[in-house]
Amino acid sequence: MLPGPTNVPNRVMNAMLAPVINHRSDDFRTLYKSIVEKTQKVFQTSNDIVLLTTSGTGAVEASVVNLIKKGDKAVIPVNGEFSTRLADLIDSWGGQAIRINAPPGENPPYDKFEEAFDKNKDIKALYAVYNETSTGTTIRYMDKLGQLASRKGAYFIADAVSILGGDELPVDKWNVDICVTASQKALAAPPGVSPVSVSKRAKKYMQENPPPTQYLNLKRYFKYYEEHFETPFTPALPLYYAFREALDMVLEEGMENRIRRHRICADAFYAGLSALGLTPFAKPDARSNMIIAVNYLPGMDDKKFRGLLSSEFKVLIAGGFGDLKGKVFRVGSMGEVGRYHVMRTISSIASAMNMLGVKTNPEATSVAMDKLKALG
Ligand code: PLP
Repeated sequence: MLPGPTNVPNRVMNAMLAPVINHRSDDFRTLYKSIVEKTQKVFQTSNDIVLLTTSGTGAVEASVVNLIKKGDKAVIPVNGEFSTRLADLIDSWGGQAIRINAPPGENPPYDKFEEAFDKNKDIKALYAVYNETSTGTTIRYMDKLGQLASRKGAYFIADAVSILGGDELPVDKWNVDICVTASQKALAAPPGVSPVSVSKRAKKYMQENPPPTQYLNLKRYFKYYEEHFETPFTPALPLYYAFREALDMVLEEGMENRIRRHRICADAFYAGLSALGLTPFAKPDARSNMIIAVNYLPGMDDKKFRGLLSSEFKVLIAGGFGDLKGKVFRVGSMGEVGRYHVMRTISSIASAMNMLGVKTNPEATSVAMDKLKALG
């Protein structure tokens, strides 16, 4: 129950046993083309897809190095570890990140973005970490950010590493010019491949202004795909097979059903953990359906609590990041998550709390179970 990597279904693991083939062969071209087409469906886009052999950070970095030049201004909401890293990356690449800060667990008011664009006439890009994994906080006005960026002629970039495949993200409808995600979270594949979608306008810019890099130079990927349906560099073939299988599972379930399942499981987690006597960390209008961040109660030592969950109940969850270390715990509710995972996690958390001498409400599991009835 980590916020990534998440559990990988056996069907996806087994797919990796396929032979390691020549990546300059028709078999590979068929494989790659099919992954691109399936990814477009999951992203709900007709944009180009580049499949990078890298973790999410590599894809996030690609969204910066292919777009930001010295002095370019980029607006970015900052409310946790991953949005801080992204803003710092923009600065370190020579850009000027215009940070719109909010306390962890909250999002800045939307008006602040309008204000930033009014104050700065030459903003090139609006970057947003859609789901701030470090605090379990989701931006619920991404569609409005996309409209704003497109009205102002700026590029809109979404770091959707810990949300795509589990919550709404219609890339074309929301005007997302660059959308990056990673295989190991809501898509429930092994870590190591990270897809990036690029709009026609952003692609044209990247082709005319390529970055001084080799591996993360997306122009090379467009060229190889257009000319050969290949990648410019050696792809992680077993991970490609696994990723294709994971995409098949997403498409078989259907995005609408999958998003609904994630929402119901998150509702059950928030309700069940609240009934136990715990409080969610994020503000109600910003709570993530992928990562359930919860405040510790007095007497719940992070190391002891998570240690008990792991050793006694075989349930792995994450602690807090930075300043939140020891103050919150985080449960990943992504990918394969279902009735079993929710109930097993909540009852194990209750037992571990009791073992630490913290009283819980015995009705909490039925509160969660009631919410899960919506799964059908
Ligand atoms: N962005 C977000 C929102 C994330 O949650 C993460 C990882 O958890 C990353 C970027 C970095 O991804 P990775 O650890 O796969 O490099």
